[in-house]
Amino acid sequence: MSGVVSSTVLDIARVAYRDIRPYAPVYADGRVITLDLSDNINLWGAPPAALAAITAGAASVSAYPPLALDDLNAAIAGSQGVTADMIVTGCGSDDVIDSAFRSFGDPGDVVAHPAPSFSMIPVFARMNALVSAPVMLTPELDVDVGAFVRMNAKITYLCSPNNPTGSLFSRAAIEEIAASVDGVVMIDEAYAEFAGVTCADLIARNPRVLVTRTMSKAYGLAGLRLGYAIGDPDVVAEVGKSRGPYKVSSLAARAGTAALTEGRAWVDARVRDAVNSRERLWEALRGMGLAPLPSDANFVLVPVSDALWLSSRLRARGIAVRAFGGLPVIGDALRISVGPWELMERCIAALGEIVERAS
Ligand SMILES: *Cc1c(COP(=O)(O)O)cnc(C)c1O
Repeated sequence: MSGVVSSTVLDIARVAYRDIRPYAPVYADGRVITLDLSDNINLWGAPPAALAAITAGAASVSAYPPLALDDLNAAIAGSQGVTADMIVTGCGSDDVIDSAFRSFGDPGDVVAHPAPSFSMIPVFARMNALVSAPVMLTPELDVDVGAFVRMNAKITYLCSPNNPTGSLFSRAAIEEIAASVDGVVMIDEAYAEFAGVTCADLIARNPRVLVTRTMSKAYGLAGLRLGYAIGDPDVVAEVGKSRGPYKVSSLAARAGTAALTEGRAWVDARVRDAVNSRERLWEALRGMGLAPLPSDANFVLVPVSDALWLSSRLRARGIAVRAFGGLPVIGDALRISVGPWELMERCIAALGEIVERAS
């Protein structure tokens, strides 16, 4: 039988990767989407100062970006009230999270994370030969402190405000977990701007805390791919090693710097607009007889009886929302991003009609 190849080419792929599906949350059903409320970006757009910086820096793209990214790190540090040696950047906060998993987890180590939470966490764990260990949220949708402390994982991932539930975890719960476990405690604050609070001050007391932030949501730069972490200088240096050089493009660095400095007033104003739209959307959903969860982010999660059916009815009207079937603790739910009120009105009108016809 020598020379007969009985296997397929996929047999050469890493075993743990074989049944991972590429990220594709939105169904490729060919519908034309004219209102996309599925991914929590800034629906007002990007800060004008960032756009101007991209135009002004366009000719710089023939050179590699600076290795040190001093301007960007200084702008981030300034916005956070920390020193620049406490910052590490990456190609989106996804890259920072992935790199941190790799720098603190040896193969086989456990990543404890809430469920439901950010859907990429189990995937990043697996990609880095780590074991993901979901910990159910409490019925109040807070973190289960006892369960995380008992697990004492090498990596504890928390997300506050939590995606997809929308609310902050209680500060006391986060503090107790951080004080009790021996490993690194990552706090994903992708939506912190909309909550107006951060856990970054915990780092001074506990150097194993690493807070991740993104420029993709409030800062309106999702397409540039820019995120960062705040942490103890030794901790962020480890993340930088596993991330590798040149993960932040020169245009992302320029735009990010501008957004955090001259663009900051624009961003703050859009955050206020988003919070305002969020409260009005929440009330409108209640008015339809639905029970939206309280939100500290720029989206609202609404438990429903059949999320896939409802979202397909919305898609038929050109509206995309994120549908979740059978979330732990919650069940089926729709996650609706918040944006300018005219867009919310269109979504509310469509959803109202669909819900009314179904009842
Ligand atoms: C959107 C999101 C991110 C990823 O952001 P990028 O910086 O665009 O990679 C990370 N964490 C959570 C919880 C998110 O919702």
